[in-house]
Amino acid sequence: MSKKEELDKLKSEMEKDDNLPLKTSETNLVFGVGNPETKILFCGEGPGYWENLKEEPFVGNAGKLLDNLLESINLPRSEVYITNVVHHRPPENRDPLPKEILAYGKYLDEIIKIINPKAIVTLGRFSMGKFLPGAKISGVHGKMFDAVWNSKSITIVPMYHPAAALRSGAVMEQIKNDFLKLPSYLKEIESKIEVEQTQLF
Ligand code: URA
Repeated sequence: MSKKEELDKLKSEMEKDDNLPLKTSETNLVFGVGNPETKILFCGEGPGYWENLKEEPFVGNAGKLLDNLLESINLPRSEVYITNVVHHRPPENRDPLPKEILAYGKYLDEIIKIINPKAIVTLGRFSMGKFLPGAKISGVHGKMFDAVWNSKSITIVPMYHPAAALRSGAVMEQIKNDFLKLPSYLKEIESKIEVEQTQLF
């Protein structure tokens, strides 16, 4: 099965799962979008009004900013994969609760397993908290970390949430600068993987 087929299968399983805590008659599943073959996966918090309506992550104002940030490093949205820690819109756009993050986590874990990205860029503190528990966004944003996820090592780059950047000029400056570091991080990760592969043979 291709990665796309595996993701489609997972999505239809998720659609049938009535135990997901934010699933209501008002909420649509916002699974994820993008290139399943990507090296880089972006993970946000949860769908808002527009995302729920269009069934696609990051299509409102925060999404427009994310698109501009990706453009600033010549990385088209269609090249990366974008998803969230919860896949139904929380009521009134409130923060997702720990038990909700846990419930959706088994699907997010599967998405990551299927895509097998070289790096995950976390957008905001809820997504960061999954991979770097206890970290403070103000101290770690824009840096590259080796984290352990599902007993495997994975590169995490925590970023501020684009919605936070829309509320603060200082955060906007930071997120713009942090995005500019991504291409060199990706090169670094790729050369590290090449070295590891040559050592295997
Ligand atoms: N904010 C998020 O965290 N995710 C979205 O999909 C949209 C806004």
